[in-house]
Amino acid sequence: MTTKQCKKCGESKDLSLFGRQQAAKDGLKNECKACVKLSNQKRYEKNKEKHKESVKNWQAENHDKVLEYKKNYNRRVRSSVITDDADQKALREEG
Ligand SMILES: [Zn+2]
Repeated sequence: MTTKQCKKCGESKDLSLFGRQQAAKDGLKNECKACVKLSNQKRYEKNKEKHKESVKNWQAENHDKVLEYKKNYNRRVRSSVITDDADQKALREEG
Protein backbone atom coordinates (compact mmCIF):
# COMPACT_ATOMS: atom_id res chain seq x y z
CA MET A 1 0.00 0.00 0.00
CA THR A 2 1.41 3.35 -1.01
CA THR A 3 1.00 6.02 1.57
CA LYS A 4 1.79 9.68 1.81
CA GLN A 5 2.37 11.75 4.90
CA CYS A 6 -0.06 14.58 5.44
CA LYS A 7 1.65 17.91 6.05
CA LYS A 8 -1.11 19.01 8.34
CA CYS A 9 -1.91 16.16 10.70
CA GLY A 10 1.38 14.32 10.09
CA GLU A 11 -0.33 10.96 9.58
CA SER A 12 0.66 8.58 6.81
CA LYS A 13 -2.45 7.78 4.88
CA ASP A 14 -3.39 5.86 1.76
CA LEU A 15 -2.96 7.86 -1.46
CA SER A 16 -6.67 7.61 -2.12
CA LEU A 17 -7.21 9.76 0.96
CA PHE A 18 -5.42 12.68 -0.67
CA GLY A 19 -7.09 15.04 -3.10
CA ARG A 20 -5.60 15.67 -6.52
CA GLN A 21 -3.50 18.68 -7.30
CA GLN A 22 -2.08 18.85 -10.81
CA ALA A 23 0.58 21.41 -9.87
CA ALA A 24 2.08 19.10 -7.23
CA LYS A 25 5.03 16.84 -8.04
CA ASP A 26 3.15 13.63 -7.25
CA GLY A 27 -0.17 15.03 -8.46
CA LEU A 28 -1.58 14.96 -4.97
CA LYS A 29 -2.19 17.58 -2.34
CA ASN A 30 0.08 17.80 0.69
CA GLU A 31 -2.87 17.66 3.04
CA CYS A 32 -5.19 14.70 3.33
CA LYS A 33 -8.84 15.03 2.40
CA ALA A 34 -9.90 15.14 6.04
CA CYS A 35 -7.59 18.05 6.76
CA VAL A 36 -8.65 19.90 3.62
CA LYS A 37 -12.26 19.44 4.56
CA LEU A 38 -11.59 20.70 8.04
CA SER A 39 -9.77 23.80 6.87
CA ASN A 40 -12.48 24.49 4.29
CA GLN A 41 -15.05 24.27 7.02
CA LYS A 42 -13.08 26.62 9.22
CA ARG A 43 -12.67 29.08 6.37
CA TYR A 44 -16.39 28.89 5.66
CA GLU A 45 -17.27 29.56 9.28
CA LYS A 46 -14.86 32.47 9.36
CA ASN A 47 -16.28 33.93 6.17
CA LYS A 48 -19.78 33.55 7.48
CA GLU A 49 -18.91 35.58 10.55
CA LYS A 50 -17.09 38.12 8.42
CA HIS A 51 -20.04 38.39 6.09
CA LYS A 52 -22.46 38.93 8.93
CA GLU A 53 -20.15 41.58 10.32
CA SER A 54 -19.82 43.38 6.99
CA VAL A 55 -23.58 43.42 6.49
CA LYS A 56 -23.98 44.91 9.94
CA ASN A 57 -21.32 47.52 9.21
CA TRP A 58 -22.90 48.37 5.90
CA GLN A 59 -26.30 48.79 7.48
CA ALA A 60 -24.84 51.03 10.17
CA GLU A 61 -23.08 53.19 7.59
CA ASN A 62 -26.03 53.27 5.22
CA HIS A 63 -28.81 53.73 7.68
CA ASP A 64 -30.83 55.92 5.33
CA LYS A 65 -30.55 53.37 2.53
CA VAL A 66 -31.77 50.63 4.82
CA LEU A 67 -34.71 52.78 5.89
CA GLU A 68 -35.53 53.55 2.29
CA TYR A 69 -35.35 49.89 1.40
CA LYS A 70 -37.74 49.05 4.21
CA LYS A 71 -40.06 51.83 3.13
CA ASN A 72 -40.06 50.57 -0.45
CA TYR A 73 -40.63 47.05 0.75
CA ASN A 74 -43.64 48.10 2.82
CA ARG A 75 -45.02 50.06 -0.10
CA ARG A 76 -44.65 47.03 -2.37
CA VAL A 77 -46.42 44.82 0.15
CA ARG A 78 -49.21 47.35 0.61
CA SER A 79 -49.71 47.88 -3.11
CA SER A 80 -49.90 44.13 -3.70
CA VAL A 81 -52.60 43.92 -1.03
CA ILE A 82 -54.51 46.70 -2.78
CA THR A 83 -54.19 44.86 -6.08
CA ASP A 84 -55.53 41.72 -4.47
CA ASP A 85 -58.50 43.67 -3.14
CA ALA A 86 -59.18 45.14 -6.56
CA ASP A 87 -59.01 41.72 -8.13
CA GLN A 88 -61.47 40.32 -5.65
CA LYS A 89 -63.81 43.22 -6.19
CA ALA A 90 -63.63 42.64 -9.93
CA LEU A 91 -64.39 39.00 -9.41
CA ARG A 92 -67.37 39.81 -7.24
CA GLU A 93 -68.72 42.28 -9.76
CA GLU A 94 -68.33 39.74 -12.53
CA GLY A 95 -70.09 37.00 -10.64
ZN1 LIG B 1 -4.24 15.23 7.42
